[in-house]
Amino acid sequence: MVEEIKQKCNGLELQNEDVYMATTFGDFIQMVVKKSRGEDEEELVIDYATLHVNNMTVKMPYQCFINGQFVDADNGKTYNTINPTDGSVISKVSYCSVADVDKAVAAAKDAFENGEWGKMNARDRGRILYRLADLMEEHQEELATIESLDSGAVYTLALKTHIGMSVQTFRYFAGWCDKIQGSTIPINQARPNRNLTFTKKEPLGVCAIVIPWNYPLMMLAWKSAACLAAGNTLVLKPAQVTPLSALKFAELAVKAGLPKGVINILPGSGGLVGQRLSEHPDIRKLGFTGSTPIGKQIMKSCAVSNLKKVSLELGGKSPLIIFNDCDLDKAVRMGMGAVYFNKGENCIAAGRLFVEESIHDEFLKRVVDEIKKMKIGDPLDRSTDHGPQNHKAHLDKLLEYCEIGVKEGATLVYGAKQVPRPGYFMEPTVFTDVEDHMYLAKEESFGPIMVISKFKDGEIDGVLQRANSTNMD
Ligand code: NAP
Repeated sequence: MVEEIKQKCNGLELQNEDVYMATTFGDFIQMVVKKSRGEDEEELVIDYATLHVNNMTVKMPYQCFINGQFVDADNGKTYNTINPTDGSVISKVSYCSVADVDKAVAAAKDAFENGEWGKMNARDRGRILYRLADLMEEHQEELATIESLDSGAVYTLALKTHIGMSVQTFRYFAGWCDKIQGSTIPINQARPNRNLTFTKKEPLGVCAIVIPWNYPLMMLAWKSAACLAAGNTLVLKPAQVTPLSALKFAELAVKAGLPKGVINILPGSGGLVGQRLSEHPDIRKLGFTGSTPIGKQIMKSCAVSNLKKVSLELGGKSPLIIFNDCDLDKAVRMGMGAVYFNKGENCIAAGRLFVEESIHDEFLKRVVDEIKKMKIGDPLDRSTDHGPQNHKAHLDKLLEYCEIGVKEGATLVYGAKQVPRPGYFMEPTVFTDVEDHMYLAKEESFGPIMVISKFKDGEIDGVLQRANSTNMD
């Protein structure tokens, strides 16, 4: 009958989900009539901030995204998001309030309990997520440009890593939608064993996601894709300083066919929006990536409010140990990549390098030679190696980190200064002679600062113990 209707209605496009979602004949007829009138899709109205940059026109939604619509914040407040390359304003952005959180959670709850998302066949859900990944790929240049403007990521890296890995993440999890299975478990050890129990995995409901600013879209992808694939709905707060790629993502999600209310994006402050999310009684789980102190606070609020589930990906201080029998060119290349990748704003950065004494001086010399070759500049320029730090407060924190290093007696070999040009650029920096008790040895910088400690030739046990003795509390 479906094929007959398609033929009689002049090639009217009907999808499997249109048929499955119309569970009675009356619903089906209504849907066919609406589709043939072109009334089936609600029009999405977007007030863009538009820029002509990087040889393209970039169109950026800047309002909160609640229940499938871009709307002003409840109290009408906005703030400016800043381009770290020159300190200019990219766009105003809605500054969400607690009332916006409550609206977004109500929309996500309704979408979960009464909307299409919850009823949809898992394979159809997967198809929508594949479509979303395809749309992100189609818009990858625009997304990478937004990421460069808003976070200072070097464009070539943004294209491959920030956006490329986000696309791949959605594609990967789209494939999971119809493969989320439980187990069949024997419950009796006696023979013959004919007693079985089974588990069936169900989505939790409304999930909250709070993310940092270093890889804005990738952090969104890592947390949201699995959450959506499992059939949950979500309310996401991007970092206040990098909201634009998340809002563009919301636009693409509508185009991909995600039903209204399934994704809600709330730009605003952690203390207000993030805190309300961790306390909200209708949220069943919160996923957070960010600093250890805020992670602790969130875990506490999640417990005290409604014992919601919580997952935390927090700070780190990973060691990299370089022994004297290494290929030194390779060690220099890898050491520099581990510290300076994405201007050091990298949660898997090498927070501390241990270098065996007999190669220490040569290693240091080669690192400094390589730093001098790095091109610092506009992240949209394809030959740039090192862009600006993400925002001013972060640059200030990094300069202060270096001052503490100098005061405590570490040897400053290179950098530790702001680059004399507009924007928030910092010279790639190297410290050595860092002793275990020093601030630099214990605290994560989250910036382009190489922290080197020597170890005596052959002292393998000693260096392993030192490398493992960080306590991120
Ligand atoms: P942060 O200050 O903890 O902020 C992270 C997010 O939490 C932001 O969206 C922030 O909002 C929000 N927030 C702040 N206070 C909150 C509260 N009371 N309740 C709920 N949310 C709140 O961290 P950051 O400075 O953005 O990021 C740097 C840290 O993240 C580093 O320690 C780094 O290691 C870690 N990180 C870890 C990973 C990982 O995978 N393990 C990845 C990336 C980063 P605002 O935007 O208003 O500040």
